[in-house]
Amino acid sequence: MICREVVELMTDYLDGALSQEDRARFEDHIAGCNGCTAYLEQLRRTRSVIGRLAAEPVPAGLEAELLSAFRSWRSGPRP
Ligand SMILES: [Zn+2]
Repeated sequence: MICREVVELMTDYLDGALSQEDRARFEDHIAGCNGCTAYLEQLRRTRSVIGRLAAEPVPAGLEAELLSAFRSWRSGPRP
């Protein structure tokens, strides 16, 4: 599984919506990828904030903003 796939599955992962197989592949990738681990944590935190807002609408473009921040991180200089 590549980072892009992992990022696309993160919402489903946090919702517990992945199949057992996808979940295992997802967790395999996360275990070896600092970027995706950091992004997952960020997304989890964002969603818990959103959850606390209950009836409030989800801030427009918030997830998209995080996603684009992550993408620019990925396209930066590699070690
Ligand atoms: Zn990754």
